[in-house]
Amino acid sequence: RKGNVIITGASSGLGLATAKALAETGKWHVIMACRNFLKAQMAAKSAGIAKENYTVMHLDLASLDSVRQFVDSFRRSGMPLDVLVCNAAVYLPTAKEPSFTAEGFELSVGTNHLGHFLLTRLLLDDIKHSDYTSKRVIIVGSITGNTNTLAGNVPPKANLGDLRGLASGLNGLNSSTMIDGGDFDGAKAYKDSKVCNMLTMQELHRRYHEETGITFASLYPGCIATTGLFREHIPLFRILFPPFQMYITKGYVSEEEAGKRLAQVVCDSSLQQSGVYWSWNKNSASFQNQLSQEASDEEKARKLWEISEKLVGLA
Ligand code: NDP
Repeated sequence: RKGNVIITGASSGLGLATAKALAETGKWHVIMACRNFLKAQMAAKSAGIAKENYTVMHLDLASLDSVRQFVDSFRRSGMPLDVLVCNAAVYLPTAKEPSFTAEGFELSVGTNHLGHFLLTRLLLDDIKHSDYTSKRVIIVGSITGNTNTLAGNVPPKANLGDLRGLASGLNGLNSSTMIDGGDFDGAKAYKDSKVCNMLTMQELHRRYHEETGITFASLYPGCIATTGLFREHIPLFRILFPPFQMYITKGYVSEEEAGKRLAQVVCDSSLQQSGVYWSWNKNSASFQNQLSQEASDEEKARKLWEISEKLVGLA
């Protein structure tokens, strides 16, 4: 049978390019888990993905009810689940004030981390029961949260501190809207959420890899300077960023190439190792990258796991 893969945020950018790359192999059925159903349908159509190779299902990661409903609808479809790709993200670098999820969490961390945390935890059992040869959970990371890189050192730097803001609810009422308890900063909130993504991948690996045989991985696909991720940025940035990445940092990667990279992490037999953060060099060869000290801190990963469980209602 074909493999079944759920990709969150497959209505644009990296998620869409990955859906297309996997569908074109003829070996995968892609469940596009998207907040805007119509947009996702249109995107799949205009990308030329054949009808029999995808299903769009509604998922709004900024609502934990929606995450639970998505899991119910997916189960009702009767499809087995072989691979989950947590790809969706919001990035609000110019926001002066925080926005919030349905449950009242700061939007970037609420969507990128907490929504995916609940989704992954709920679907883990489904993946565990699949009879597919290589079962995987992939959480898209980023270099920007990784302070052992040049890009990760552009201020404001990611820093989760002692997680006091997260522990007290991240809601701006009786707590800070930032994980470390500091003042709201949209760019930092995104970077913090990406550190959470990388810590969660490693904690999943430590807790579940041996027992389930599931491969847990993260990746930095390269700088895909053309995606909608930068839609909230100031216009001048949006004009200058792609050529800057293309000619100055040379970190630029097209959406199509980035999609092929993520598709490799989904199904390539050479990228099957669990607990790995994948990157690609200039010749597009994959390698296991190092994470910054904070993004590989085991104690922080455990603490993040426990607080996140409480916030999403699992503990
Ligand atoms: P896009 O903005 O193009 O894609 C993000 C996707 O997430 C969209 O499909 C968007 O849906 C979806 N999304 C946002 N909020 C929600 C929500 N509440 N519920 C469900 N889906 C949601 O950006 P990219 O393709 O660039 O980003 C994809 C991933 O790649 C992210 O994890 C990002 O951090 C990562 N990344 C990107 C890099 C880059 O250079 N672009 C570099 C490194 C990592 P909608 O279409 O409805 O807006």
